[in-house]
Amino acid sequence: MSAKVRLYVEHPLGKGQTVELTRDQAHYLFGVMRLGPGAQVCLFNGRDGEWRAEVAEAGKRGGVLRAVEQTKSLQTPPDLWLLFAPIKKARTDFIVEKAAEMGVARILPVQTDFTNSERIRRDRLQAHAVEAAEQCGGTFVPQVADLQRLDTVLDGWDAARRLCFCDEVEVGRSSALAGVVASGAVLIGPEGGFSERERTRLTGQPYVDVVSLGPRVLRADTAAVAALTLWQQAHGDWR
Ligand code: SAH
Repeated sequence: MSAKVRLYVEHPLGKGQTVELTRDQAHYLFGVMRLGPGAQVCLFNGRDGEWRAEVAEAGKRGGVLRAVEQTKSLQTPPDLWLLFAPIKKARTDFIVEKAAEMGVARILPVQTDFTNSERIRRDRLQAHAVEAAEQCGGTFVPQVADLQRLDTVLDGWDAARRLCFCDEVEVGRSSALAGVVASGAVLIGPEGGFSERERTRLTGQPYVDVVSLGPRVLRADTAAVAALTLWQQAHGDWR
């Protein structure tokens, strides 16, 4: 029988490796999913692929799993980053969840001139990325970085990484992404779009490609999914 529950754990995974469960994980497996000793689950930790494991001990507040065999090797996404300006909470959560599903290596919330929120809950966003990986069968979890100013990120930019600057003023222009890009990034602005100052700075960089996402102005969360789709199709692991 194939294991249904997929669980992200921090522990190293290898044959015979035991994994102690946190209280929340024990509650989920034994309280919610009603698993007992001998039941099968899938584990991954973002480094060692996916493992079939069995429940060795099940308790109310804890438990132990034992890894039996590797069922998938580690599949890392392309070296693609998503830079986005945080928007309303539910839409920001959506962006992180979808980015993890679409296959990005890193998620960088950036504060732009017209970004409303000055703080994010990085740990909560990271938990959304973990849940998305659990759900979509991924073996890798993209890291969610702390909120940084866009200018700071650009100050330290490695020019070998091409940046797709999704700019709403490009509405309706063509947007074919082409060529060989080994490491890239997509930048999505907030509800208010980008400032002229940001536009000037970005378009002046040799590593920037200005990208249109079609004839309609998309909401930032839609734009993030659309841009990642284009990138994956042109350069990534969907080809
Ligand atoms: N307030 C702005 C729209 C911002 S949409 C305006 O009215 O013009 C939020 C973000 O989504 C934008 O900053 C851009 O990164 C992206 N976006 C939305 N539609 C786009 C399009 N058609 N082409 C390129 N980027 C787009």
